[in-house]
Amino acid sequence: MTDAPLKLFNSLTRQLEVFEPVHPGEARVYTCGPTVYNYPHIGNMRAYVFADVLGRTLTWKGYKLTHVINITDVGHLTDDADAGEDKMEKMAAAKAQSIWDIAAHYKEAYWADVKALNIRQPAQWTVATDYVPQMIEFAKGIADKHCYELESGLYFDVSTVADYGRLARAQTEEGEGRIEAVEGKRNAADFAIWRKTPPGETRQMEWDSPWGRGAPGWHLECSVMSGEVLGFPFDIHTGGIDHREIHHPNEIAQNQAHCCTNGLDDPRNSGARIWMHNNFLVERSGKMSKSSGEFLRLQLLVDRGYHPLAYRLMCLQAHYRSELEFSWEGLGAALTRLKRMVMGVEHLKARHAELGSASIADLGTEPAEGWTLNQVQGDEADGSIERRVGTEQFDRALSEDLNTPEAITSVEWALSLKDWPPKARLDAIAKMDSVLGLNLMGLTRADLRIRPKAARLTEAEIEAALARRKDARAARDFAASDAIRDELAAQGVEVMDGDPLGWEWKLG
Ligand code: AMP
Ligand code: ZN
Repeated sequence: MTDAPLKLFNSLTRQLEVFEPVHPGEARVYTCGPTVYNYPHIGNMRAYVFADVLGRTLTWKGYKLTHVINITDVGHLTDDADAGEDKMEKMAAAKAQSIWDIAAHYKEAYWADVKALNIRQPAQWTVATDYVPQMIEFAKGIADKHCYELESGLYFDVSTVADYGRLARAQTEEGEGRIEAVEGKRNAADFAIWRKTPPGETRQMEWDSPWGRGAPGWHLECSVMSGEVLGFPFDIHTGGIDHREIHHPNEIAQNQAHCCTNGLDDPRNSGARIWMHNNFLVERSGKMSKSSGEFLRLQLLVDRGYHPLAYRLMCLQAHYRSELEFSWEGLGAALTRLKRMVMGVEHLKARHAELGSASIADLGTEPAEGWTLNQVQGDEADGSIERRVGTEQFDRALSEDLNTPEAITSVEWALSLKDWPPKARLDAIAKMDSVLGLNLMGLTRADLRIRPKAARLTEAEIEAALARRKDARAARDFAASDAIRDELAAQGVEVMDGDPLGWEWKLG
């Protein structure tokens, strides 16, 4: 079943490449994690859903996965290059709180979203402030040949490594004019790997170093944490598409310097063999921006009544390299699709229970149209049962650079096979869901009901009113039944009689 070779799009070469692990049988993956100065928006979470599906796919393919995600609690400036203030320091000042409290609070909030979106726990969360001594050692190792000191810090000279910026395909003299000038920089794209605390100031987070008291640069952090935990070279480094332009080229430059040889062609020098980037989730009205008041957090979706896994499905319905536009209608459509799948699984479970513990071998209890028991057993042996229930197509789709939009249709295919025994279909769906992570086996229709937080009625009250209405209808008291319906409507509850998807009610 897992025969299709896994092909992944490598941003370094801009090509699909067959995945060849550095260590046979293993897959080591590093994902740039959040800067914990604020809540993540749902666009940020798309990056982790993508990394999660990548990790689950590697597991599906039989690799022993070691996945690391970092938590940036120091060093990320308001500009990805070297301009602006430290995001953490800035938020701490605005809230008059300690940076450590800010970091702890938003780290928890991020982890809550990770959990709600069914993103698997990585083998390790690396927290940047736990690695400062290693960062200083790394910087010391490359400082002589590749760095120079200015008043504001230790800078990396990008002209000392071959092919700087190849990942971004942007090797302009001006560094694309993207960086606020720092006096004394040799090249526009040079970046700070250590930022000195300005004289007379004290930062909440600062450490002693050979270049004075200060804090590590953000790019240094990821080079050090990925190399420390996974060892250079490791297999795959992931992040959002914005990181392809500055953050990852800078990491690569440092890794090249650290590995002592020039040239990107030798994958050891870029740190990771494959660099993968998810495209952005976009939203036209600007609600994605954390600076706008009510920005698109996962909690906002939940408050409006949407199950977080509807958002996960929305992400999976688009290929990770395509831009995805957020809309409430789109989210609603994803929720409906999820509900259809969940209802399909509920139905199959009920059928299976009816049949007792019938396995494929007991197929006689549900003869498949046109199939005999012997045929089925024979087919199982030669693998075509997988073709039949969709796992083979599923594997093919995933193997083509994680084509989740197509992979999802294999689940729907398995649900649609009316003449096939429930057990085989349930098994196949559970297997496929081990990659999609939609919790299709555990969710119920009731979990997916739309119930905004602002709703005035509780679910129990709605159910009680509907029960009274049912009684009224049974007694043919239609006036009473209509009155209950109108009362509910006045409270924002839409009663959905005969809805093919089985929603009994919906809160608007
Ligand atoms: P940050 O916390 O800003 O470092 O971002 C966390 C992750 O989210 C990074 O991998 C970013 O590249 C990614 N990211 C930021 N904005 C978006 C977006 N709108 N859509 C998808 N990914 C994003
Ligand atoms: Zn990073």
